[in-house]
Amino acid sequence: MSPGKARLATGASERDETLADLLAHGRFLSGLSSVGVAPRSAAPVEPAAAAETGAVATRTGSTRTDDPSAALGAIREDLGDCRRCKLASGRKKIVFGQGNPNAELIFVGEAPGSEEDEQGLAFVGRAGQLLTDIIEKGMKMKRSDVWIGNVLKCRPPQNRNPEPDEILSCQPFLEAQIRAIRPRVLVGLGKFAAQWLLKTAEPISRIRGRFGEHDGIPVMPTYHPAYLLRNPAAKKDVWEDMKAVLRLLGRPGPGPD
Ligand code: URA
Repeated sequence: MSPGKARLATGASERDETLADLLAHGRFLSGLSSVGVAPRSAAPVEPAAAAETGAVATRTGSTRTDDPSAALGAIREDLGDCRRCKLASGRKKIVFGQGNPNAELIFVGEAPGSEEDEQGLAFVGRAGQLLTDIIEKGMKMKRSDVWIGNVLKCRPPQNRNPEPDEILSCQPFLEAQIRAIRPRVLVGLGKFAAQWLLKTAEPISRIRGRFGEHDGIPVMPTYHPAYLLRNPAAKKDVWEDMKAVLRLLGRPGPGPD
């Protein structure tokens, strides 16, 4: 995994400041993104209005939350060949996220890396292999049963950290995806995903292992698989966190191999 991801667990004050700014914007935007996926009978958001507000435009009634697959399709259409932020110029493929539209469990990562950028799929590189092991060998679930996405849908250059304007441009889409799938549990992988889901600037080392909440859905913040590749001793913490997730889902996992 990239050196950029090596900075996941650090808590530089400069970044905390930009995060504080971001969260202030996020509070402003949260009212707008609530129109991201129209409730069953709500009027669709006009694309022009959406462009002004940053909300996800929903052209048809197909974004009903009782049809997550159709809702995700409409969100993908709204995303289009996205040029909303500066990452568009350097990416190869948009990584929308993938998995079971009816998933009870969503994993949210930070941003695509080089493999993901090549393939257009989330978590398919080395960190993705470890995530697959956590899900399949540890939790005894199938990767195809869960849904996996990222805070950003395009790869930052050299895998650098996401920047506030990029997170702001992308967030209506992840908000809409979460509303479309409406899982029972969300797992935030690493600092950026955990902080975004929980709207906090607390370091991941302090928040991991305790459930918080995002739009009424329980959130388990835990370490990013890329961090585990460099710090295998932290796997035991992640395993504790995943056991708590399994308990909440009523699925007692048999444990790691
Ligand atoms: N790291 C992430 O955060 N997301 C991916 O999709 C791959 C690596």
